[in-house]
Amino acid sequence: MPPQEPSFRDSVDHMFTRAVRFMDLPPGLEEKIRVCNATYTVRFGVRLRGAIHTFTGYRSVHSEHMEPVKGGIRYAMSVNQDEVEALAALMTYKCALVEVPYGGSKGGLRIDPRAWDEHELEQITRRFTYELVKRDLINPAQNVPAPDMGTGEREMAWIADQYRRMNTTDINGNACVTGKPLSSGGIHGRVEATGRGIQYALREVFRYPEDLARARLSGGLEGKRIVVQGLGNVGYHAARFLSEEDGALIVGIVERDGALWNDAGMNVENAKQWMMRTGGLKACPEGKFHEDGAAILEAACDILIPAALEGVIHLGNAARIQAPLIIEAANGPVTAGADEILRERGVVIIPDMYANAGGVTVSYFEWVKNLSHIRFGRMQRRAEEAEHLLLVRELERLSSDQNLGWTLSPGFKQQYLKGADELALVRSGLDDTMRTAYQSMREVWHERPEVGDLRTAAYLVAIQRVADSYKAKGL
Ligand code: NAD
Repeated sequence: MPPQEPSFRDSVDHMFTRAVRFMDLPPGLEEKIRVCNATYTVRFGVRLRGAIHTFTGYRSVHSEHMEPVKGGIRYAMSVNQDEVEALAALMTYKCALVEVPYGGSKGGLRIDPRAWDEHELEQITRRFTYELVKRDLINPAQNVPAPDMGTGEREMAWIADQYRRMNTTDINGNACVTGKPLSSGGIHGRVEATGRGIQYALREVFRYPEDLARARLSGGLEGKRIVVQGLGNVGYHAARFLSEEDGALIVGIVERDGALWNDAGMNVENAKQWMMRTGGLKACPEGKFHEDGAAILEAACDILIPAALEGVIHLGNAARIQAPLIIEAANGPVTAGADEILRERGVVIIPDMYANAGGVTVSYFEWVKNLSHIRFGRMQRRAEEAEHLLLVRELERLSSDQNLGWTLSPGFKQQYLKGADELALVRSGLDDTMRTAYQSMREVWHERPEVGDLRTAAYLVAIQRVADSYKAKGL
């Protein structure tokens, strides 16, 4: 990244400041919303491989206008206070935009998870959890983490178990963290949620030809040429669903070791399997391998999905990006400087705050499930099936009594008679959330031309909701 690029934190601040220019907030409230309330830094030692290793971790709370606060825990060597605070701020705005009743938080541990084996990672995670639980920085009512880069279900299960060991009588203990495996109180559809959200977001954008026209695109998702960066949790699911269910072509996949290209589109599952077997994309038969992965980000395509890490589209490459539509699956993949350049070039950016909100949305469902101690659909599924069966039988009776000759197709009957299970309900709730949030954002985008772009519109909607919540509290 060129040296004149602002930090991630400055980028988020810059975008915030750009948005509040279009608002009429009471003096002081703007500053109150912008700043991070608190960031806790912890340094702790763990005895591993015969020596004591010291680790540095963070948990930042950006806004407590609603509690609990929510945000993932990231494991990466690049983790630092600036990054954690920027991500915590994004969480505040994201939750407000998708109407998930949380404040914003984020955590991180400076560690290379691939450098440690499983039982070592468990020891480190439990120790980090202990430090955070002790200070109520993990707590079902106050602060609820989730997975992020470098963490997943496994780490969340360790965190939940550690919390329960320290709070044996808390009946809501399972709700202290989301993204857990099903066996530890997780919810169906959480692992795929962020990628699924990307799919639902794109489907919603494609429902509005006038929005597509702004990106010089038309038609449906079928046949659209997509480049995705990062075949991790988010990128893999998004790319798979878009290619398998919507007929889009994944022509480029950019990973750590380089990129794959195939004009005819790739089988995402095969590429993922190859990556899991070999550790990278090199020599994967799905496409032609290019050592210079960054160059593929700039290749001609219809939709670019950066789904790896922040700051990958910056002042140094923004002018060369050819995709007319970018959907920010990762957090902060476009720097403030690049955002300016792309906006001037007429590139439409679907902002991270909205695009990757699927994860926190389904986390919210998981938290509600944990607090209610019952799986979604358990009470109504069979009742729904019985009602549908009643209708089908009545139709069949009418047809036979009146000699109408109607027959319901077996496919229809099978689908109609199936009551909604937890996964179906989670997907329905996620779809509704992504549609509603997009509509609130695009309304501002279209009705206030001076706002100019979807990101600023998203900030406007989110900041206004946070401001309303502070005002209601008398601040
Ligand atoms: P992950 O660790 O599962 O996947 C990240 C992928 O990016 C990996 O495959 C990794 O090899 C690849 N990668 C890393 N550095 C790269 C580079 N320089 N070039 C190309 N590829 C690179 O992480 P994830 O959970 O998929 O998260 C990805 C992004 O999405 C992050 O910005 C995260 O904050 C954001 N996000 C994740 C979730 C979630 O539910 N997991 C929710 C919201 C936002």
